[in-house]
Amino acid sequence: MKRQDIIRSIAIILGMILLLAVSMFGYAYFLKTQLESEMKQTLEEISEQSAKIIQAEVSSHFTLMEEIAAQLTENNSFDVDKSIALLNERKENYPFKKIGINMLNDECIFSDGERILIMSGGDEAWREKTGAWVSNLMTDTTDNGKVIVYSAPIRVDGETVAILFATMSTDNFRELVEVHSFNGEGYSYVVRANGDGVVDSAHSTSFSLTNIFTNMLEASQKNSKAVAAMKKALAEGEEGFIVFNNKIDKYLYYTPLEINDWYLAHIVPARVISERMMNIMQKTYMVCAALIIIFSGGILYWFWYSKKSKEEINKMLYTDPVTGGLSQAKFLYDASESLKENDRPAAILSMDLNNFKLVNEIFGRDTGDVLLWHVHASMSKVLAKKNLYARGMADRFYALVYYNTVQQLTECVQLLCEYIVKKAPERFETFILKPSVGIYIVKDRNASVQEMMNAASFARSSIKKSGRDQLYAFYTDEHRNKLLHDKRLADDLEMALKNDEFIPYFQPQYRADDKTICGAEALMRWRKSDGTLVSPGEFIPLAEKNGFIAQLDENMFHMVCRYQRQLLDSGITPPPVSVNMSRQLLYDNQFIEKYMGTMQQFGLPVDLIELEITETALFENQDKFVHIIQKLHDKGFKIHMDDFGTGYSSLMMLKSIPIDVMKLDKTFIDEYDSEDGVNIIKCVTDLAKSLKISVIAEGVEIEEQYKLLCDFKCDVIQGYYFSKPVPFEEYKKMLEVTAS
Ligand code: C2E
Ligand code: CA
Ligand code: CA
Repeated sequence: MKRQDIIRSIAIILGMILLLAVSMFGYAYFLKTQLESEMKQTLEEISEQSAKIIQAEVSSHFTLMEEIAAQLTENNSFDVDKSIALLNERKENYPFKKIGINMLNDECIFSDGERILIMSGGDEAWREKTGAWVSNLMTDTTDNGKVIVYSAPIRVDGETVAILFATMSTDNFRELVEVHSFNGEGYSYVVRANGDGVVDSAHSTSFSLTNIFTNMLEASQKNSKAVAAMKKALAEGEEGFIVFNNKIDKYLYYTPLEINDWYLAHIVPARVISERMMNIMQKTYMVCAALIIIFSGGILYWFWYSKKSKEEINKMLYTDPVTGGLSQAKFLYDASESLKENDRPAAILSMDLNNFKLVNEIFGRDTGDVLLWHVHASMSKVLAKKNLYARGMADRFYALVYYNTVQQLTECVQLLCEYIVKKAPERFETFILKPSVGIYIVKDRNASVQEMMNAASFARSSIKKSGRDQLYAFYTDEHRNKLLHDKRLADDLEMALKNDEFIPYFQPQYRADDKTICGAEALMRWRKSDGTLVSPGEFIPLAEKNGFIAQLDENMFHMVCRYQRQLLDSGITPPPVSVNMSRQLLYDNQFIEKYMGTMQQFGLPVDLIELEITETALFENQDKFVHIIQKLHDKGFKIHMDDFGTGYSSLMMLKSIPIDVMKLDKTFIDEYDSEDGVNIIKCVTDLAKSLKISVIAEGVEIEEQYKLLCDFKCDVIQGYYFSKPVPFEEYKKMLEVTAS
């Protein structure tokens, strides 16, 4: 993975963690407030329930006290001694610690006969009470125990004669009223409105209650605000909620009990909430962690995957599928980089194998590929490490070679060619392998490598044209001038077409038997504005290269149709004219319609135009072109196979291609004076005859050739022997002579 990718993925992962963390905090805050309000509600509910329990308990004690008081005056009279005895007898049945009677003086008599003065610290108002009553916290002077005291008046005839009282230890009372909550974490106190404790708690974390406000302030000064708030609320008889700290934070809910000025205070450690929250948060964290892991994994996988597919694409773009070496595109890039980095003398080589197409045809494509692979392997063996090399189109190879002296460079090229020929796989033994290498010496290192390759290729193709048995050629000034000239010519083509500078010449064709004109071939000429005539050999290869040729063909076709029309209009019945078609034209799906349109435009019968296609073009895409030939046949055109014998089509192929005329190439005719040549001409004409294909011999220049062809029953002769290609006016005159 690249540094950049790593940084990017880390950034994405960190960003995501940050985002998750922020949402987690948000969620935690939301959860906390949610749980807190839930807690408050629960506390409130528990407090209210506890208050009800306490109220019920106290009121049941009140009822009991009133019942006992009533029992002591059953006969509407009251006897202290009897009553004390009765109480003593029954005291075990009561939930009280002690029970006794006060005779409305300072003395209290208990059921066991003990007499004490009225308990100190108590509320003196109890004697005035008309109904059952309960005291605040008091101390039992006999054992210093904490108690609360219940009382109820004993009445005879509606007059209070004595008071029944009973003590209850706060421990007992607490047991009766204590409510636990939150799994034993919550506990409660009963306090008075001024904070004084009435019932404390046995809970392990509670403080020993004296005055809840003082206790809280003692526990922590931080509680002062909460204490003040609670004090105020209690003074006003309200219920409410505070948070205070006693070692840990605690929640406290206070509710008035409607007994004296008592309040119930229910307390829960804040931890209860935080623990629940922790619990939920822990699960959330786990989910988040899982999410982060899955997401990070996903990102890493995505990076890994995109890196892999990038590598695969690069491999496809940068590797040549046949040799496994660099692709041409990669070579272009690497070579241009390498040239910028190195300052040693450098050359670009362009190499191909003569007749490689033949290897493909004879041995098949797979074997052709083996040969290409071998060439590539040879380059890797012979060329030094710093050099670069790659295959381009078909059997074309390129190399960037660094050298010290030109001699060393040529030796290297020679060695490479030798290696390719000598170390070729056995199956190519019978085949004459001959590499050709064009060499371009790099001058400007920053110039386009593609142009250097073109220059090297140009030098290479000059070897073939020279016809010499040369292995390599350097790109020279002559090549450069020729290239410049071609470029200028190619640039001029479009303008020339607009200016109608392309015209057909007509080369008449003669019947071999009676030497009469039976047809003509239209051959393109470029007549420049200055009157010079450019031959198609010069500009057609350029037009083929820049794709202009199809337009030139159409233009020719149009003009030939016009001239045929002209002849018809002037009363001559012209023989058919054959027009050349380039392979590029055949790739234009609309050309048949266009040609038919032109024929109609001039109202020409279809037998006045015939069409020529070269053997090599046909061979290039046999399936497609045979299909096109059939279509043209259907429209009524006769088809000539041009340049027969220069391509690689086997004679057998003729059977499967529906052509009407075979044009025997000049190279055959030129062999008229050798025995083999003569045999071949005879063989080909015989075969054509047997397939009912008529034969036109091209490039017939002399009497001997003509005679030979007559002997072999060749149908038509075209060549300088009868006539060179001529302008229309001249051709027209020839026809007129024939007609007269
Ligand atoms: P091609 O179709 O094989 O045309 C025959 C060529 O042989 C013509 O060359 C013609 O002038 C030449 N020729 C005819 N008889 C003799 C002879 O006795 N001796 C010699 N030495 N040459 C003879 P040209 O006109 O220079 O045309 C060259 C090639 O250019 C043509 O070869 C054809 O392939 C191409 N061409 C010409 N006109 C057109 C066209 O309109 N469209 C296309 N696509 N190609 C064309
Ligand atoms: Ca031709
Ligand atoms: Ca020809």
